[in-house]
Amino acid sequence: MGHGWQGAVLKLMRGKDFTFTVTGAEQVTEDYRRVHFTDGGLLAAAGIHPTMWVRIWFENAGKPHQRAYTLVDPDQEAGTFSLEFALHDGVASRWARSCAPGDTVEATLQGTGFDAPEPRPGRLLVVGDPASLPAVNSLLDALPGVPATVWFETQHASDEELPVRLDPEHHELRRVPRRDGGADLVARVKAELPGLAESDPYVWIACDTATTRTLATYARKELALPKERVHALGYWRAS
Ligand SMILES: Cc1cc2nc3c(=O)[nH]c(=O)nc-3n(C[C@H](O)[C@H](O)[C@H](O)COP(=O)(O)OP(=O)(O)OC[C@H]3O[C@@H](n4cnc5c(N)ncnc54)[C@H](O)[C@@H]3O)c2cc1C
Repeated sequence: MGHGWQGAVLKLMRGKDFTFTVTGAEQVTEDYRRVHFTDGGLLAAAGIHPTMWVRIWFENAGKPHQRAYTLVDPDQEAGTFSLEFALHDGVASRWARSCAPGDTVEATLQGTGFDAPEPRPGRLLVVGDPASLPAVNSLLDALPGVPATVWFETQHASDEELPVRLDPEHHELRRVPRRDGGADLVARVKAELPGLAESDPYVWIACDTATTRTLATYARKELALPKERVHALGYWRAS
């Protein structure tokens, strides 16, 4: 499958291409699916960093569509990892629902990176949702022992069962059901985050693009947190 203009642009920007092969899958909840892969040489070539993600090409009606997904439990020696799909009605979700061992997808590595917050923050303040859960888990794993408060937006009753990797001694999870396109999450974080802003925090935000933008602006401008202590990336576009 050619990747069209998006692929050509990524190539110019030195994206590297790999083919991933499905080895199995498990339905974690009815709305969340984990798929296991061999990595086609990705991890040996690129190494591993926290919250690492790849651009995967999914085909729909003969056209390639690029979607970002986060590596779960990458194992460099074995050349394996998993991806976790928050399911909805989309080309990537449809592929994840029906893929079988032996299926392949093409992927481009470009744009991912991770700057560990230095000095270590006094507290992690994390805002995420099922799409960013793999990255949230990876972030928590990367900073063991750092206290964390996680606001986690849920969309389905089954999201209560999602595997958030909490260390009960250091991490606190605050679930917020999604309402009004993320307005409840914004209100809750704005009400609660200032009380934790004195803890020398590192704020990490990844939910839908509009909510992410609103909360990032709030943290940087209204709370005046230093720019390098606020990381924000919209993970999906609500329609
Ligand atoms: C760096 C990065 C890493 C990411 N990692 C992951 C990951 O590990 N796991 C994961 O599940 N997602 C992840 N995402 C989000 C994922 O790329 C998007 O959700 C993507 O739009 C899904 O593609 P799709 O083809 O299934 O749906 P699309 O064709 O993009 O959208 C179809 C419809 O579904 C809606 N939609 C799209 N995403 C969601 C969602 N998450 N929740 C509810 N409705 C949605 C859209 O508004 C649209 O109406 C990541 C995004 C980024 C930027």
